[in-house]
Amino acid sequence: MLQADAIFIGAGINSLGAAVLLGEVGWRVLVLDRNEVPGGAVRTLQLTLPGFHHDIGAMNLTVLASSPFFQEHQSQFAKYGAEFITADRSFGSIAPDGRFLGITTDRDVNLRAIAQFSPADAQAWKTWNADFDRCAPILFRILGSPAVAGGPLEYVFGKEVPVPEETRQALRGILVDSLRHNLTARFESDAVQALIAAWGLHLDYAPDVAGGCWMPFLETNVDQRQGISLVKGGSGHVIHALCRMVEETGGEVRTAQTVEKILFDSGRAVGVQLADGESIRCSRAVVASVTPTALLKLADGHLPRAEVSQARDWQFGPGTLVVHLALAELPQWTAAAARQSFYVHLGPTLDDLAAAYQQGMAGLLSARPFCVVAQPTLYDPSRAPDGRHVLWVMVRAVPAEIRGDAAGKISGSQWTDDVKNAFADRVLELIEEHAPGFRAAVLARTIHSPRDLEHLNPNLVGGDLNAGSMHLAQFYGQRPFQGASRTPLPGLYLCGASTWPGGGANPGSGILVANELLKAD
Ligand SMILES: Cc1cc2nc3c(=O)[nH]c(=O)nc-3n(C[C@H](O)[C@H](O)[C@H](O)COP(=O)(O)OP(=O)(O)OC[C@H]3O[C@@H](n4cnc5c(N)ncnc54)[C@H](O)[C@@H]3O)c2cc1C
Repeated sequence: MLQADAIFIGAGINSLGAAVLLGEVGWRVLVLDRNEVPGGAVRTLQLTLPGFHHDIGAMNLTVLASSPFFQEHQSQFAKYGAEFITADRSFGSIAPDGRFLGITTDRDVNLRAIAQFSPADAQAWKTWNADFDRCAPILFRILGSPAVAGGPLEYVFGKEVPVPEETRQALRGILVDSLRHNLTARFESDAVQALIAAWGLHLDYAPDVAGGCWMPFLETNVDQRQGISLVKGGSGHVIHALCRMVEETGGEVRTAQTVEKILFDSGRAVGVQLADGESIRCSRAVVASVTPTALLKLADGHLPRAEVSQARDWQFGPGTLVVHLALAELPQWTAAAARQSFYVHLGPTLDDLAAAYQQGMAGLLSARPFCVVAQPTLYDPSRAPDGRHVLWVMVRAVPAEIRGDAAGKISGSQWTDDVKNAFADRVLELIEEHAPGFRAAVLARTIHSPRDLEHLNPNLVGGDLNAGSMHLAQFYGQRPFQGASRTPLPGLYLCGASTWPGGGANPGSGILVANELLKAD
């Protein structure tokens, strides 16, 4: 068996990215995952019918595709079967009046589309883009650097990153404002505000959450520039490629291996114990890609008191439910432009988005849930048999513990099959409102409730797709502990969505932990 320098707990995208980087400089790495199929939230499975390939989680791989990590490993991704495709009509929302407002990679087309809702907002979109040109280099630098304990204001007003005077005001707003505050000051149309704010709910940035602007700001501008990247056949091909890259360096990815305990010797992490009792030791580092809550159990009494208390206080964001559909045809959206759009957001105004989030946080099944409808087969027909389609409908702000139904129709406090089906029916009915006849095209469906998602990947506690709320209290230098990849325990390191810079299908925290380990080497 491999004599490992480093053991990774969890074969998520961050662990695998870090394992590749360490393997390339001669480290022997062992990556362990409890599942049969590696990848965590990035897996592609035939969930409905044979020949229909569904991404259980991440599908939008734009950040990965535009990262230096990808550029440096492009030929290996290609060699191992991860072929990237661009959706040039990337996203849009159904507006309150039923029209569709979508963003493409053609800025002039976008300006004309926005002007249909408000000529003033078309001008404001230009400022939104110009602010991006000024702020993006700093934002990407922040997201790609180790976290600074004080949080975002240090970056804007402090010494870590020099910020030109003319950029400060815009950057401060993007880092600190709530979406409602920032967007209502910039845009007058409900439709334009919701077009942008919908992205906040891909994380847990509802319209009134402070610090929630940065992600919609980056996503909307980047999508206009380069579209959304997805991988032919499903995101799982990226994981397959990363596993082969690890093996190419002499490393190993072992699946169906649950780590139950981190082993310590004189206070130093020296290996892991598996659920079947096997102990595996390593010489340099144990890297855990788990939540702080799970780390408490794995480190079993070794974490210092401050970290124990922070781990106990770790809060998870709202849950997620995903309806995976095999379809005879794509939705015939009444607003024809939606038929070409990779994502269609159903959440017409800031107030609709805020209400859906608030109901979810209060434990209620939303009466009109916020839905992200992805139509991957528009751009990648290989995911379904000829002429057929898959549809991925992600509902955000869904409670893991159900306290009631905001519409007063669904009873039950657990995610039983009856409750799942009743709620999925509500979601499909919402789509049917905008695409009459849609339900008749459904060949089969599989529903992943918040509890099912947690079962598929224990980091998705209560269906929280970011493994912990991304609000300011748990972001920057608080994600988690002091925001660092290392822990106070020698030999024990962290990566993954619970760590800085948070959730997302790219190896951001994996790169940071690899750098940290190489620095310590
Ligand atoms: C429904 C959904 C949609 C999403 N959509 C997008 C999107 O479109 N774009 C995007 O960028 N991001 C998206 N995300 C978020 C993104 O997928 C995740 O943030 C990211 O994949 C997390 O990666 P990670 O490296 O933290 O590892 P994870 O994906 O969390 O994987 C961790 C792995 O560790 C394993 N593990 C945990 N504990 C143990 C243990 N004790 N022993 C052994 N193994 C263990 C788990 O089985 C898992 O395989 C989505 C997530 C979900 C759930």
